[in-house]
Amino acid sequence: MKIALSAGHNVYIGSNFDCGAVGNGKREADITKATVKNLISLLESQGHKVKDVTPYNQKFSEKKSHHLKRCREVDNFGADLYLDVHINAGGGTGVETWIYSNGSSSKKHAEKICNNVSRHIGIRNRGVKVNPNYWSLKHCKAPAIIIEGCFIDNANDVKKLNPKNYAEAIAMSFGEIKESKPNTDKKLYRVQTGAFSVRKNADDLLKKLKAKGYDAIVVQDKGLYKVQTGAFSKRENANKLVMQLKKDGFEAFIV
Ligand SMILES: [Zn+2]
Repeated sequence: MKIALSAGHNVYIGSNFDCGAVGNGKREADITKATVKNLISLLESQGHKVKDVTPYNQKFSEKKSHHLKRCREVDNFGADLYLDVHINAGGGTGVETWIYSNGSSSKKHAEKICNNVSRHIGIRNRGVKVNPNYWSLKHCKAPAIIIEGCFIDNANDVKKLNPKNYAEAIAMSFGEIKESKPNTDKKLYRVQTGAFSVRKNADDLLKKLKAKGYDAIVVQDKGLYKVQTGAFSKRENANKLVMQLKKDGFEAFIV
């Protein structure tokens, strides 16, 4: 798909920066900008063509003109879909999306986005709403969605939502994403051929192993010099090496 993205606000109206809603020490414009940045790489890695239509920090004389400019960019790009990313305010909680009409082809995407943001971030799903008068929805030919990820004035909402998981939740609606996992070290099966309290004995064994063509190292662990000949992610491969070492007259076992 060709997807146009907009980071809500992030422009100057006259001499004032439009930072959108504020609450709990955060500004809407900062969250939308960082979210769109993350979204670009997530959507591109799914194979979509993406364009950010935000006129960052440009000056406009009044509010409507920057929306019109974004919409023009959306249609020049030939977007299949326009996502205008925002954060809500006003005392509620949860995610909602806005579309031009119930007949719009954006509706199925808007529903998915609501479901994914709600589930991935763990906030209420307020559903898809219709408003044909919103500029972002009205002034481009492409089907459009305004996404209001959560309420910035709700402490619980902004504690849960961040630019990373917000972007992930939106991207999940357009393909698979690689969810970030904690960095767990994979268990390795190491083959040990000896453990000595005297370094020289370990070095002697190391020489013998190398003379037979084995790749070996000495590791110091808890006061012992351990001679190891391999590390494998599969136990069966470690077993094969143990058998071979034994055939060559070495002691060997898996640790
Ligand atoms: Zn906004």
